[in-house]
Amino acid sequence: MLVVMQSHATPDEIRAICEKIETLGFRAHSVEGAQRYAVAVTGDLRGIETCGLEEMPGVQEIIRISKPYKLVSRESKAEDTVVRFANSDVTIGGEEFALIAGPCSVESRAQTLTIAEKVAAAGAKFFRGGAYKPRTSPYAFQGMGVEGLKILAEVREKFGMLIVTEAVDTEALEAIEDYADMIQIGARNMQNFSLLKRAGRSPLPVLLKRGLSATLEELLMSAEYIMSEGNRNVVLCERGVRTFADHSRNTLDLSVIPAAQKLSHLPIISDPSHGTGKRDRVTPLALASAAVGADGLIIEVHHDPDHALSDGPQSLFPEQFAAMVDQLRGILSVVHRTLNVEPPKGRTQANTQAARS
Ligand code: PEP
Ligand code: MN
Repeated sequence: MLVVMQSHATPDEIRAICEKIETLGFRAHSVEGAQRYAVAVTGDLRGIETCGLEEMPGVQEIIRISKPYKLVSRESKAEDTVVRFANSDVTIGGEEFALIAGPCSVESRAQTLTIAEKVAAAGAKFFRGGAYKPRTSPYAFQGMGVEGLKILAEVREKFGMLIVTEAVDTEALEAIEDYADMIQIGARNMQNFSLLKRAGRSPLPVLLKRGLSATLEELLMSAEYIMSEGNRNVVLCERGVRTFADHSRNTLDLSVIPAAQKLSHLPIISDPSHGTGKRDRVTPLALASAAVGADGLIIEVHHDPDHALSDGPQSLFPEQFAAMVDQLRGILSVVHRTLNVEPPKGRTQANTQAARS
C-alpha cells in the first residue's frame, strides 16, 4: 500500500504518517519520486483500511499495490533506481553502462592482481572475484575466505575498482562488509531468505542473481526480501536458467531483461559467463544483453583459464575482454547508454576482431 502525500505536505505530517504506520505494527518506507512523495506500507496489511490513514493531514490518496512485491514494483516507484556507492561516482542503473569483471575465484594474490590490472586497463569499474565459493562438490575449491577478501581490498586500493564478491552465508556477509563495496547473492542462495534479510540490513548494495530455475516473480520477491529490511540498493542479475538445451551450460534468458524493467524500477545486469558456460559464446551474448537494454555486465576473466580453480572454460582471456568492451561501444550508442572508457590507443576494429577466440 502506498500513502501518497500532497505536494505541500509538511515534514511533520509525513513523520506523523510514518509513526502511525509503525505504531500499527507495519513498516513505513519513504518513496521519493520526481513527481510525488509517498510512504509505502509493508507487512501483513489485513485490516489496515480501517486505521484512518486516509483522513490524516497531508495525505492525498491511498493506492493499493496489486503485485505481491511492493517496494520493488514500478507501482510504488515509477523512476528507474540508480544504485550509488559510497565515496565513488560510479553507478549502476544510470546512463553509464556498468562493467564488472574478474575471475570466478580469488585464487592467489598474484593471480588476482594480474587479472585486476588487465580488466581495469580495459575499462572495468567493478572487480569481481569469489572469496567464498558455492561449489557443487564439497571437495572442490571453496575459496580463500578472509585472505581472499584482503586481496580484493588491495585490488581496490591499487586500481580504484569497486569490489563485488559473493556472500554464501551470513558469516561471509559480515566479513564482506568489512572489505567490499557490493554483496553478491548467488543463484543457489536466491531463496535463502535469512541471508536475503541480513543483506537487507547491510549498508552495501546487493547484486542478486536469479536462481537456476526461478521465475521472474520469484526473483522480484527475493529482491523484496532485501528491500523490506530497508536496503534500497538492489541490482538484479540474469545468469541463465536450466532448460532442456544442452549446447550451453545454462540458457541466458535475455527476454527477462525488458520484462523485469517493465515490472520493477531496479537495475538489471546480465552474466553471459554463467549464462553460456562457454568462452566463445560470452562476447556475442554480452553484446546481445546490451542491445536488449541491460544496465551492465558481469564477466569472468582469467589470464590462465586452463589452470583456473573454477569456471575456466567460460572465462575470457583479458584481451578478449578488452575486445568485447570495444565492440560494446557501437551497441551502446544505439541504445543511448554511455561507456565511460577511453578507446584504447592503437587498437583498431581489425585487430579487435583478430583477438584470440
Ligand atoms: C559466480 O558468480 O561465480 C557464481 C557462482 O555465480 P552463480 O551464483 O550465478 O552461479
Ligand atoms: Mn563462476
